[in-house]
Amino acid sequence: MRNTLLLLLSLLPVYGHADKLIEQALPEIIEFRHVVHANPELSNREAETAKRIAERLKKLGLDVQTGIAHHGVVGLLRGSKAGPVVAVRADMDGLPVTEQSDLSFHSTVTDTYGGKRVGVAHACGHDIHMSVALGTATVLAAMRDELAGTVKFIFQPAEEGVPPGEKGGAPMMIEEGVLTKPVPEAIFGIHSWPDYAVGQVELTSGPAMASSDRILIDLHGRQSHGAWPHLGVDPIVLAAQVILGLQTIPSRTIDAREPAVVTVGIVRGGQRFNIIPDTVHLEGTVRAFSDAVQDQVERRIGEILAGLTSAAGATYDYTYERQNPFLNNDPALAARARATLIRTLGAENVLDGKPAMVAEDFAWFAREIPGYYFRLGVVAPGTVSGGLHTPSFRADDSAIEPGIRAMTALVLDYLQQR
Ligand SMILES: [Zn+2]
Ligand SMILES: [Zn+2]
Repeated sequence: MRNTLLLLLSLLPVYGHADKLIEQALPEIIEFRHVVHANPELSNREAETAKRIAERLKKLGLDVQTGIAHHGVVGLLRGSKAGPVVAVRADMDGLPVTEQSDLSFHSTVTDTYGGKRVGVAHACGHDIHMSVALGTATVLAAMRDELAGTVKFIFQPAEEGVPPGEKGGAPMMIEEGVLTKPVPEAIFGIHSWPDYAVGQVELTSGPAMASSDRILIDLHGRQSHGAWPHLGVDPIVLAAQVILGLQTIPSRTIDAREPAVVTVGIVRGGQRFNIIPDTVHLEGTVRAFSDAVQDQVERRIGEILAGLTSAAGATYDYTYERQNPFLNNDPALAARARATLIRTLGAENVLDGKPAMVAEDFAWFAREIPGYYFRLGVVAPGTVSGGLHTPSFRADDSAIEPGIRAMTALVLDYLQQR
């Protein structure tokens, strides 16, 4: 305890300095936010956003690498003193959503997505994440002389998933060596969260976000007249059995103490009211907080399909696509981060949360090295925000300052208390 106290006292001038630097950096960072918010780009199309980031990182004197996993940017900040390497990650892509917010800098950008013309918006708050990372880089670059270690700022494209047939996102950045030369020993990330007020954060230790997989099923029967079902093999009745059968996986197969979700989101089949079609197509998603549960669900879907289609005299095609693993917050890192965030934002603003069933590709980084990912409140007093990925999602500018304060403190604590 005494050691911790002495350490804290020795750090006080550093933190005081950081607060002043944040204040100075803020106007430029908010201006950056307005520009990227008004000019969002879809996954794997973040060329202009990347240019803007690289330009600013270069101006700060960081070693900048571009073109990683298409439009990824990395800025390396080497402190004057020796110390560990730690990483900060921010995602860069917008979504095919038409923004409906009262922000003066709201997006009017359109692009082509899935063959259609769509509005594009930062409806997942990635503009806030980039602003917080850039703000943290600005503050720490000004403290280079006192900095004991190296900070790797990773700006990652395509968090929301890549267009069909393309590669990208966190796994591709890792493949291209983003966690080498130098190897960070920990990585931090945030996500804007519209359930919380500006200044609040929500923390979890251990599993934080679920794995996300995609299932694709085709049920092949035999077409017949709707009045003569005995002459055909009805894939629609079979689809109904399969959908209900899949619901027994979380309820009857998986240990009740392990969360799992199986959702069928697409059921497609049939041309006419009085024809039994030959095929029904199903698509869905599987969520879990354990690799073993993922394996179990994948296997059980196959068994249920084999059993039900055999009983019906039908056949099937089944694909189980692994998309993201579950995101695990390293418990030791989480405990340290919690203490840092309580000191920085006040205990009343640090909320203990629950894991969320939505996914996040930060999970890939946190599989390679200890990772810590937390949620940042973005709703200012007197404003309202819709949910993530909706047209009315609204992150307030004022969320950036506590975000930078939190991230700067996490990095400084990590470097100094290692
Ligand atoms: Zn999102
Ligand atoms: Zn997001």
